[in-house]
Amino acid sequence: YAAKTSGDTCRRHTAELDDTADEQARLGAELRTALDTGQFRMVYQPIVELPHGRLRAVEALVRWDHPERGLISPDRFIPAAEHNGLIIELGEWILRTACAQAVEWQADWGPRAPERTSVNVSARQLAQPGFAALVERVLDETGMPVGRLTVEVTETAVFGGGQALQTLNDLHDLGVRIALDDFGTGHSSLGLLQTVPVDVLKVDKSFVDNITMAGRHAVIATALIRVSEGLGLTAVAEGVETAEQAAELYRLGYQLAQGYHFGRPVAEPDFAAEVVVATP
Ligand code: C2E
Ligand code: MG
Ligand code: MG
Ligand code: MG
Repeated sequence: YAAKTSGDTCRRHTAELDDTADEQARLGAELRTALDTGQFRMVYQPIVELPHGRLRAVEALVRWDHPERGLISPDRFIPAAEHNGLIIELGEWILRTACAQAVEWQADWGPRAPERTSVNVSARQLAQPGFAALVERVLDETGMPVGRLTVEVTETAVFGGGQALQTLNDLHDLGVRIALDDFGTGHSSLGLLQTVPVDVLKVDKSFVDNITMAGRHAVIATALIRVSEGLGLTAVAEGVETAEQAAELYRLGYQLAQGYHFGRPVAEPDFAAEVVVATP
């Protein structure tokens, strides 16, 4: 019986992988049309100051508004776009749209607008020669001040080869802030801090979950805020879902947080109406 169960599990696992691969191929094939017909949307999630929740920054996140399938999560189509290379074009659209939006908020809301905008950049974009020059051009064309842009990269992207490390140095020299996303979940998180120009550590949600129950998560979250302080970096706690987590993070020394407790990612004009106007 045990053997049969494990066989079933294995078969189911393989079927799921096939499904994923099929889906990737299907979505990948539709990406071109999606780009050409404007099916992508940006949503914006607040990054706030603890403990009161004052709006400080915003993370731009992409959505695919598919005509038949509805909203598709980036976890499902970014890998496909990476695979077929369309992430280069999609990534440029994302950067341009997020910067243009930031400039518009700045014009409309002045000091109440988010000070900084984070844009996620994937491995293939970072590995691309000329990516820093592209960023410079987009900043120029949208009128976005360089110091207001933060580029979020994962450890995997940093090690993605090509020009990745050079690009990060070039971006940093331009004055763009570099954030390490999902920090602590990759293979060489701490080692990376010695070689990569980093300004912000985004402490992964997995260390925030269960932080209120004394245990491993709290110990790691504490260690990461100490590392961040010691190196003069800014730490942002990701995936904060409850008031208790927010209070505990504040007690540990975290000054910035992001998560459903403070605000879900929303499209404009909801962001201006719900977040800019409503947050203290
Ligand atoms: P990420 O950059 O780590 O973004 C944070 C993800 O966590 C977002 O998912 C956000 O909606 C979600 N999140 C925020 N607060 C909470 C919370 O309190 N609880 C929970 N359960 N989740 C929370 P999303 O938008 O689905 O994006 C998933 C990932 O896809 C992102 O992770 C990022 O790696 C990638 N991604 C999203 N937008 C872009 C983009 O424009 N370009 C690229 N290259 N990648 C993107
Ligand atoms: Mg991110
Ligand atoms: Mg993250
Ligand atoms: Mg993530």
